[in-house]
Amino acid sequence: MPTGRFAPSPSAPLHLGNLRTALLAWAAARSEGGRFLVRVEDLTTSPGDPRAAEVAEAQLADLAALGLDHDGAVVRQSERHDRYAAALADLGSAGLTYPCFCTRREIREASVAPHGPDVEGAYPGTCRSLTDDERREREASGRPPALRLRAGGATVTVEDELLGARTAIVDDLVLRRADGAVAYNLAVVVDDADQGVDRVVRGDDLWDTTPRQVLLQRLLGLPTPRYLHVPLVLGPSGERLAKRDGAVTLADRLALGEDVASVVGRLAWSAGLADDGERLTAADVAARFDVARLVRTPWVLTGTS
Ligand code: GLU
Repeated sequence: MPTGRFAPSPSAPLHLGNLRTALLAWAAARSEGGRFLVRVEDLTTSPGDPRAAEVAEAQLADLAALGLDHDGAVVRQSERHDRYAAALADLGSAGLTYPCFCTRREIREASVAPHGPDVEGAYPGTCRSLTDDERREREASGRPPALRLRAGGATVTVEDELLGARTAIVDDLVLRRADGAVAYNLAVVVDDADQGVDRVVRGDDLWDTTPRQVLLQRLLGLPTPRYLHVPLVLGPSGERLAKRDGAVTLADRLALGEDVASVVGRLAWSAGLADDGERLTAADVAARFDVARLVRTPWVLTGTS
């Protein structure tokens, strides 16, 4: 059965941009009679962090208020460390990982050197082929290493339902940080596969991460889902939407006297799925969901929009 998902990080309350992505992910799944899952991406929050738990609860309440129901229990990344460790072990036994002792500063400096990496911002490969002696020397410094993927300069082509295809060289991305935290790119790949997600609808700020994730899927023998990256909502200054931009959360909009139907209608309108001023339920949006109608540019939220 087609399966979609929404995977918020519990770092801040959902703003209109997050809510719009959630609405579109839900509508995409329901429009094809599919399942819709919710996953709390609390990978980097400490276990039992009360603030993250509170934010996650508020996020789930907002989804419910908009009518975005989900199938099955909410999955939390903080409870799935065994699965990530197993994936790391698989990659490790295939010779596809190596420890990296570089500091951020060393990476920055190596990246601007004349023989830096081919891809801007990519890891320059300093620790990729350390000799045993060099590795021991670095281990003796006591600084715990990060774990990187031996990507081998792989070139990956990924496809998006809205954005088309893109080809990128994948660098030796971090799989586990020096502090032990599993990297988002690994977790998301393992989670989507375990949960049977076959269509990922998410913000287009994550399109850059897709080649890395598709390479990991291939190396782990996992299927690649369909991707649909939707444009973001921006604040009046053209920057990513933020709290300082005013009434940006559902609670803010309700406090202004709007109701849920007008918020859903406005989100759908901004995405190209409704007329201005329409009041809609989430189910109405699913009924008219059509990738061909989706806008391809960000929605710049101004005081009047
Ligand atoms: N947790 C990520 C975020 O909130 C989304 C990850 C994804 O959809 O792949 O930005």
